[in-house]
Amino acid sequence: MKKLTTAFLAAAAMTLGFAARGAVYHFDTSGAPKLAAWTDTKLRPVVEQWYPRICSLLQEPGFKPPEEVKFCYREDRQMRGIPAWTMGNAIWLNRQWFEGNLEGEAIGCVVHEMVHVAQAYRRGRHPSPSWVQEGIADYVRWFLYEPYTLGARPNFRDQRTRYDNSYRTTAHFLNYVELKYGGGNTPIYRRLNAAARNAAYTDEFWKVATGKDVAALDAEWKQAFARPPRERRQPPKPKISETSKPQKPETSKP
Ligand SMILES: [Zn+2]
Repeated sequence: MKKLTTAFLAAAAMTLGFAARGAVYHFDTSGAPKLAAWTDTKLRPVVEQWYPRICSLLQEPGFKPPEEVKFCYREDRQMRGIPAWTMGNAIWLNRQWFEGNLEGEAIGCVVHEMVHVAQAYRRGRHPSPSWVQEGIADYVRWFLYEPYTLGARPNFRDQRTRYDNSYRTTAHFLNYVELKYGGGNTPIYRRLNAAARNAAYTDEFWKVATGKDVAALDAEWKQAFARPPRERRQPPKPKISETSKPQKPETSKP
């Protein structure tokens, strides 16, 4: 019995990986002393909760996401005005942008970047398109981390809106496909991520996952969110008729 329990625990620990032990996080705030307290009290708890969660959302048998994640602040000029980017397991954060967005998009932006760490895409014969990579990162951010902000709502009146517009627009498309065609053992976004991670993504993915090609999915997604044309209305009648028009107050009594 004891042997069995030990073997079971060992297997469970291997399956759970660092989700059970916790990953290691390094926060370098030496370049941003004003952000040190915020990083420790606001950002760190979200990182500790969400990095393992993201790794679990994007799990794939036989794949181990990085067990160490580094965060460091850099100056705006080094970042070329970009709020944040990820290289391997290192996330660079634009000091000036973060200082100006602490109450806004700062933490959500880091959640997006942590998805890139967990994606850990490799290059291959079919490098994954960046709209897939960015769309998944924004799907996790806007639909799983902070859905209440309604931060990803494409403009469906714009003729240029397409499933592969990347970022928030692709995130919205992924959410639509997940809700309509998902529900199996493995979410569609997870299968899409695995295909992209293994440099095996082609448009055939959608046909296999939903039975429809991506152009048909794109059309029905836009159709589902298109607003009916506004009814032509008559101009509203004036509320005050001629007869009930207020009289000018008399200025003098006869
Ligand atoms: Zn990104």
